[in-house]
Amino acid sequence: MSTDTLPVIPHWINGARTESTSGRTAPVYNPATGELRAHVALANAEEIAAAIASAQRGFEIWSAFSIAKRQTVIFAFRELLNARKGELADIITAEHGKVRSDALGEILRGQEVVELATGFPHLIKGAFSENASTGIDVYSIKQPIGVAGIISPFNFPAMVPMWFFPVAIAAGNAVIVKPSEKDPSAALWLAELWAEAGLPAGVFTVLNGDKLAVDGLLTDPVVQSISFVGSTPIAQYIYETASKHGKRVQALGGAKNHMLVLPDADLDLVADQAINAGYGAAGERCMAISVVLAVEPVADELIVKIQERIARLKIGNGAAAPEPDMGPLITAAHREKVSSYVDIAEADGATIVVDGRDFRVDGAEDGFFFGPTLIDRIPTTSRAYTEEIFGPVLEIVRVASFDEGVALINSGEFGNGTAIFTNDGGAARRFQHEIQVGMIGINVPIPVPVAYHSFGGWKASLFGDAKAYGVHGFDFFTREKAITSRWLDPATHGGINLGFPQN
Ligand code: NAD
Repeated sequence: MSTDTLPVIPHWINGARTESTSGRTAPVYNPATGELRAHVALANAEEIAAAIASAQRGFEIWSAFSIAKRQTVIFAFRELLNARKGELADIITAEHGKVRSDALGEILRGQEVVELATGFPHLIKGAFSENASTGIDVYSIKQPIGVAGIISPFNFPAMVPMWFFPVAIAAGNAVIVKPSEKDPSAALWLAELWAEAGLPAGVFTVLNGDKLAVDGLLTDPVVQSISFVGSTPIAQYIYETASKHGKRVQALGGAKNHMLVLPDADLDLVADQAINAGYGAAGERCMAISVVLAVEPVADELIVKIQERIARLKIGNGAAAPEPDMGPLITAAHREKVSSYVDIAEADGATIVVDGRDFRVDGAEDGFFFGPTLIDRIPTTSRAYTEEIFGPVLEIVRVASFDEGVALINSGEFGNGTAIFTNDGGAARRFQHEIQVGMIGINVPIPVPVAYHSFGGWKASLFGDAKAYGVHGFDFFTREKAITSRWLDPATHGGINLGFPQN
């Protein structure tokens, strides 16, 4: 419990800011200065129960709204978000540390899903088959599932919740968002925006908390589904626990994304993309590129080009003007973890080409900065290669052929994103066919699908079979009923027949 006078970030329950009485909090920092800026409430059992009960009441009200009325609220939310997204970007930069234009970028990718959701009537239409049998019609309707839990990670405090809640709410559900305790304010801002847009109380709830709040959502019978995004061990725990409690689950986990560079690629363009995708948001993106697989003989030349570009990167407070290219990591503890992976790489015999371990920003010595790091000849047995680092660390693995590169990617634990850089269309086509990864870029380093497709990896990057947003999202947040109907008349009703109904 805090003893200072800093604000305690509350919950949003039943359409209003709700102070916590749990006596438990977690610290919220400004990572660029290292300054403690607030505390966030950690819910107790009563607060969890209150959030769920209010969401259930919200669901009962909202699901009875007509499609037209629901659509009006979602359009209003989209307009407000579009007009005021600068405020949200400031909040994200202050708590996460990513530079402001990148914070705006994440909001825009979330806004895409809101825009998809404005067209929801088309996506929740059922189907109708007239005369499936003589005089019999068969049709399906899609209904909301109820209260949906959304548990999000620190690295996209606005976009990740927005992968789910616009779709869930449009489909007639109520949602409870459990934000990361490291940057919880974005979710609260979004809650206020929904209220302004006319969403009834209880339909959008923010429950701040830690494992206690998560476990409450995973086990309470009122909560019908869990959408989780975070690290793989927690994703697996969420999937297993929520499934055991009879819920639908989509649990998106960690990543280790490779880009395969074929010798015919333009190495200047490749170096630009490796820098953008490796060091953007300080590498704290689930679709960041963390390994460059260089098909020889290009490695030496590519490393020089990447090194030249690293030297030009500006690192600093993401809220500053002019804006730097890269901000800090999320916490001091995370910086230590990233640093320990570089130690492991070095101990395992890799070459540290550019070392960010001792990097400090003048005037912001307490910020959680870590310099862009480039590692060559990382052994593929090293934990620094096999595990997710989640920092501005780019590793180079030299391979002899396309086939060796594909085999290496396919042997990994994760299957979130990958990319190939080449001008050889045949090679790109083989890559998309043979690679065991959910999202693939062809000369695109961070292939996050647009809102009308769906987002999700394979293997340890996604537990469950439902991806985020797009058609998958609407399927996840609706339950289908199939109805077989006829209007009895003597000519077609068939008399007494105890056999199984046939066509
Ligand atoms: P995290 O797993 O530590 O936390 C995610 C959420 O789970 C948070 O809300 C946290 O409060 C909760 N949580 C943490 N420990 C828990 C526990 N023991 N029991 C119950 N709940 C718990 O992840 P993070 O550090 O916030 O985010 C970074 C991770 O998220 C990276 O691994 C990254 O790859 C992954 N990520 C994946 C995707 C994707 O689309 N696959 C997208 C973004 C981030």
